[in-house]
Amino acid sequence: MGDKGTLTLMKGVGEIVRIPYHSYLIEDPEATVLVDTGSSVRWRELHPETLVKAFPVHLKEEDHLENTLSSLGFTTKDIDYVINTHLHYDHCGNNEMFPQATFLVNKNELAHALVPEWWEASSYVRAVFDNPRLRYESIEGEFQITSGVKIIPTPGHTVGHQSVFVELAKTGLLVLAGDAIYLRENLEDPVLPGLYADAELYANSMKFLKHIVGLRKGTMLLSHSDEYFCPDGWKSPNRRIEVFD
Ligand SMILES: [Zn+2]
Repeated sequence: MGDKGTLTLMKGVGEIVRIPYHSYLIEDPEATVLVDTGSSVRWRELHPETLVKAFPVHLKEEDHLENTLSSLGFTTKDIDYVINTHLHYDHCGNNEMFPQATFLVNKNELAHALVPEWWEASSYVRAVFDNPRLRYESIEGEFQITSGVKIIPTPGHTVGHQSVFVELAKTGLLVLAGDAIYLRENLEDPVLPGLYADAELYANSMKFLKHIVGLRKGTMLLSHSDEYFCPDGWKSPNRRIEVFD
């Protein structure tokens, strides 16, 4: 839960809304990839008091990442790569569950997360991602992980934000936008998010994703929206876990 004004700049300020935190599992013959690890199951203990109050996390037992993975027939040890779209606390909160994985994070993002500027510091919670047991590989620009999974830089929300492009047999291009776009409203109104590192870069990244998804007749999932965009328009899945193939 959190203030709507954090999602849409100067709109809906004071209105407390549900903000989902999505993670994505990519089953690829070349590698098993997880995109984002959500908010920490230990959020009460690890998050600073201000964050605990402003963004309380409502986690059901079934939504604990290891339980969700096990419901899909996976264990945390099966994950080869974890991509953090960025290192805000709600995207890397459970990184500690994957000590055997390689974490793919943009070089600028790592630098800013470790030494943030004053205006971006509140969303980086070092206690949840800076763990000596975790292996971070800092990457620059585009990065091909398997023949069908590629990281694409989409800066603006944060300095080193990145999205993931997945090529699927039936769906075609699936874009995991991360926080490059929070809501349909950001795209269609359009309205800036309430939180960004660079407004111009944010607008450019949003325009780029919209363009490529339109061009390729692709599908796009947003980290904090249950609605997703597909060639038929916007859809809301009925299921807790949606499968694209
Ligand atoms: Zn986020």
